[in-house]
Amino acid sequence: MLSNKTSSAVRTAINALQRYKVLNTLTNDCFDKALETEQQLSNEQKNNSPLYGRPILIKDNYCLQDIYTTCASKMLANFRAPYTSTIVQRLIDSGCIIVGKTNMDEFSMGVASWGVFGPVGNPWSVKKATNIDEENLKKLLHVAGGSSGGSAAAVAANFVSIALGSDTGGSVRNPAARCGCYGFKPSYGLLSRYGMIALVNSFDSPGIFTRNIDDLILTINAIAGPDGEDATLLSKPFERFQSSTELLKDKKKITIGLPDEYDINKLSSEYRSCLQDLVVQLTATGEFTFKRVQLPYASYSNAAYTILSSCEIASNMSRYDGIKYGHHTNNIDESKDTYEDILRKTRDESLSERVRGRILAGNYYLLEENYEKYFVQSQRVRRGVTNDYTKVFEEDKVDCLLAPVVSDDPITHAEYEQSDTIFTDDDIFTVGANLAGLPALSFPVQVSSKGFPIGLQLIGPFLQDQALLSIANRICSTYKFPFLDLTKQN
Ligand code: GLN
Repeated sequence: MLSNKTSSAVRTAINALQRYKVLNTLTNDCFDKALETEQQLSNEQKNNSPLYGRPILIKDNYCLQDIYTTCASKMLANFRAPYTSTIVQRLIDSGCIIVGKTNMDEFSMGVASWGVFGPVGNPWSVKKATNIDEENLKKLLHVAGGSSGGSAAAVAANFVSIALGSDTGGSVRNPAARCGCYGFKPSYGLLSRYGMIALVNSFDSPGIFTRNIDDLILTINAIAGPDGEDATLLSKPFERFQSSTELLKDKKKITIGLPDEYDINKLSSEYRSCLQDLVVQLTATGEFTFKRVQLPYASYSNAAYTILSSCEIASNMSRYDGIKYGHHTNNIDESKDTYEDILRKTRDESLSERVRGRILAGNYYLLEENYEKYFVQSQRVRRGVTNDYTKVFEEDKVDCLLAPVVSDDPITHAEYEQSDTIFTDDDIFTVGANLAGLPALSFPVQVSSKGFPIGLQLIGPFLQDQALLSIANRICSTYKFPFLDLTKQN
C-alpha cells in the first residue's frame, strides 16, 4: 500500500527544486530513483521511523554508488562513485530518500559555494525579489555561504528538511548562518568520514543542516557510531541522544563564555547588536549567565589553519593525476611530454586557481627547509588553540562559548566576483572548532534590516555534543526565528 504522505513529500521536494533552479542548489539529481524508491515504501515501515520516507540531499562530496560525485570540479565531473559513504548508507537504511547531490565550492575550498557548476544563490534573495524574472534574479542573487551552500540553501528554503554537508573550517556553520537554518558540526570522530571525499583529514567533519533541533538529533542518532572503515572514529558504542523535549527537562543554569578574541568590533553594527541583544535577553530569563573568557591563540588560528590545511590538501590532491581516475588532458604531445607535463596540463584544465594555489602552497610549506618553520610551528599553534578551549571549559567552567559566524550580510554574486578573497577573515570565528575537533552549532537568530538571516554559533567541549544541542534548544526556545519557506511562495 503506497503512502500518499510519503509520496507527496518526495514530489514536493522535487517540484520545489525544479521551480527554484535559479538557486543552483544541485550538481546532479536522483529524481527518478527517488520516486522509484518512494513507490516501494509501505505505511508500516514509515510508522517505524520518523526518518522513513524523508527526502534528503547530500553534498556532492559524499560518495553514492553509481551516482556522479563531482566535488563541483571538472576534475571529477565524470566520476561515478563505486561505493556509498557510511553515513549516507545509514540514512538510506533509516528510510531517507536521496533526491540529489548539492552544489558546493570546488573540493570544499571557499565560502561562496561556487565551483565549476556556478554559484549557489541565497534563498533570501528570492524572497526579497518577488516578481523578478529569472535572468534578472541571477544577477541579483547573494552568496549562500560555503562550502556546503547547496545543502544549506535547500534546507533553509524548505525544499528538504535534512541535508548533509561537511565542515573543515566552517563549511557547514557558515552557509547555515548565511541561509538561515541549523548547521551542526559534531565532535571530530563522532561521525564516519568514510566515503566523504577528504579535504583536510584531521579537520574534516561531516555536518548536518536542519530546520529544527529534533531533526538534528534524529539524524545524528541514525548515523553516529563506530565504523570499521574509519580508523579516526571513536570506537566506543554511540549512546543515542535524547529528544529535544527530554533535553528541555534539564533546568541546570547555563554559563556561556564570550571570548574576547572573537573581536565583535569587527562585526557590522547590526550583527554586533544581534549578539549583544541575545546576551541581554538570555540573561533576563535567569537561566543563563555570561562570562568573558580568553582564547589567546585564537588570533593565530587562521594562519595555522591555512598552513595545515594546505599541507593536507597538497597530500590529498596528489591522487588527482588524471591517470587513475578524473579528468585526463587530450592535449598530449606523445613525442616529448613527460608524466609531469601531462599532470600539469590535466590539472590546469580541470582545477581552479584556488585549488591549484592551495596545492602549491601546501607543497611549499612541506619543503624540507620550510617544514619546521611552517608545518611544525602551526602544529604548536594548533595545540595552543586546543589548550585554550580546554582551559575555558575546565578552569573558567563555562558550558559552551557563544560566537559570531560571519560579520555582515552577504554580498551579491556580481560583487563577489570582483574579489573572491572577501570574507575569509570571518574564518577566524569558525576554524578554531576544527583545529580542536570540538562540536559547534550555527543557529539562526534574527533577520537583518536588509532581509538576511543573522546566525550565531555555540562551541562546546569535546564529545559534549548532546549537551551543546540541549543548550541550543533552550536558547532557541526563547524566541521564534521566521524560517523561510519558498515552497509556500507564489
Ligand atoms: N573557508 C574554509 C576554506 O575555504 C572552509 C573550508 C571547509 O570548511 N570546507 O578552507
